[in-house]
Amino acid sequence: MTVEIGTLIYQGKAKGVYETNDPQKVVVEFRDDITAGDGAKKDNLSEKGFWNSVISAKFFELLEEAGIKTQYVELIKPGLMLSKKLEMIPLEVITRNIAAGSLLRRYPFKPKQTFDPPIIQIDYKSDEYGDPMLNDDIAIALDLIDKENLKLINEITLKINKVLKDFLESKGLLFPDFKIEYGYDTDGNIVLGDEISPDTCRFWDMETCNTLDKDLFRKGESGVIDAYKRVASIILDDEDKEKWNISL
Ligand code: UDP
Repeated sequence: MTVEIGTLIYQGKAKGVYETNDPQKVVVEFRDDITAGDGAKKDNLSEKGFWNSVISAKFFELLEEAGIKTQYVELIKPGLMLSKKLEMIPLEVITRNIAAGSLLRRYPFKPKQTFDPPIIQIDYKSDEYGDPMLNDDIAIALDLIDKENLKLINEITLKINKVLKDFLESKGLLFPDFKIEYGYDTDGNIVLGDEISPDTCRFWDMETCNTLDKDLFRKGESGVIDAYKRVASIILDDEDKEKWNISL
């Protein structure tokens, strides 16, 4: 069935979600808008949506191969991803392998301190409340999730971290931390949704420790898109480039 893109059903800060002629599927549009600090800092960086969609597609494919359910169906073309329709859970599930970012601002960890096992932190996705950190009791009392699914999310997240960290390290990249979101599919299964990109992850070059992610934008540095492109060139193989018609 050829996909027909219908009405916009959700507009986020960097992505839009469109209905399709298949009620079980949506098209996610990765836009060039970039924000930081809860939308306080905003810009539009040409090609950002293109690279984020391709990087996310690659990671979703790797995770599917490892047996993890994701919302990914296919990349229609860079920028547009056909995805399973999910009812999203308003949780930001953050995994940390190396101390960075807000963890250093809030707690006396040492910069670059490593965590094995990794730290999983769950925040409430709410602009109104400023994404506060949750604990299990608060998440359950707010009716955001039940105990069983919380346990499942923790288990799946650890598996995702292992698959991605091993892959990235084999390519010379450190994976300090990342944020993912989950939803329920039409059968009520917990499925990985959203994106996995330099907007939502930290990637550091193993040799130089150079930042290759949104931290460049947060700090007002140049070369944001070059860094995103570099991540793509590191993780994509020739087959991916041919499939998505990408020259790097
Ligand atoms: N993150 C995200 N969206 C958010 C908050 C965090 O994608 O609303 C990602 C962020 O890119 C990083 C990880 O989650 O890879 C941990 O972020 P942190 O808590 O350190 O916050 P930050 O320092 O980025 O504000």
